[in-house]
Amino acid sequence: MSTLERTQLTPSVHAAVQSRTGTGWSNSGLVAAGGGLVVDSLYDVRLTRQLASLYAEVHPDAPRRLVNTHHNGDHCWGNQVFAGAEIIAHRGCADRFADFTPERAEMIRTMADPPEAMRSIHEEWADFDFSDVVLTPPTMVIETDTTIDLDGVRVDLLYVGPAHTEGDLVVHVPDEGVVLMGDVLFNRCTPIGWEGSTDNWIAALRRVEELAPEWVVPGHGPVCGLDGLVSSRRYFEAVRDHARASYAAGETVLESCAGIDLGEWSRWDEPWRVAANVHRVYRECAGADWDTSFDSGAVMADVEELRRRLGG
Ligand SMILES: [Zn+2]
Repeated sequence: MSTLERTQLTPSVHAAVQSRTGTGWSNSGLVAAGGGLVVDSLYDVRLTRQLASLYAEVHPDAPRRLVNTHHNGDHCWGNQVFAGAEIIAHRGCADRFADFTPERAEMIRTMADPPEAMRSIHEEWADFDFSDVVLTPPTMVIETDTTIDLDGVRVDLLYVGPAHTEGDLVVHVPDEGVVLMGDVLFNRCTPIGWEGSTDNWIAALRRVEELAPEWVVPGHGPVCGLDGLVSSRRYFEAVRDHARASYAAGETVLESCAGIDLGEWSRWDEPWRVAANVHRVYRECAGADWDTSFDSGAVMADVEELRRRLGG
């Protein structure tokens, strides 16, 4: 199990952070001003109710706004708990909102004898319950950077996708030096992305670095500062440069992974996800665009193989 804790970072901003960093154990935030703005719900209804009661300790009224940083379920499948809130997201999140459904996830989670390819996700989902999740999509779709005034507290929704996904938003509270990153930042756990591109992800991290925030709330992992952004950007730069050389040398993705020296990043949780990041660079080397569809089954098979080799 994971524990969920709320921490007040600045006069208006609270972070709710999970003790675990693996698949689905995501973070959230609250800007307690102007009726309240929540950044991301959690993976299921039980967890998100727990989140809502942590926020009610400091903001007893139901929050009026909820921002979804992107469409992955661990950031929006608890939306129904904030019924009545305006749900704000980028077009790229709204369009993909129902791409993968809680019904399908619950089916895989509760399989009696999952096939080999689904075994690890089946185990990772054991502690969640998707049976009562009702997809609750955005009600306010934005196309570009958008500023909201919460009774004098300025909140900037910055569109930085497609990096981790097409619809990536980060939430900046400039006067309090806080940025809530969604999955554009994984801190102390290895990032993994879907549609998007390596260079866009690097550019997204650079853009936020230039804001010089004091507090950075990642989508997964502990709260950090500028150092977390820099470390993640350098990870992507190192993986990109290594994978480009491997691609030019005709190596397979797993051969490339065997030759990469991840240094400090090898101690991050789930280091085997590097296989997915190398796959992404290989697709880019082959000329794929950010939204070219790909065989995610083949990618995850290599991630699983690397997990086995690393003893995870
Ligand atoms: Zn996530």
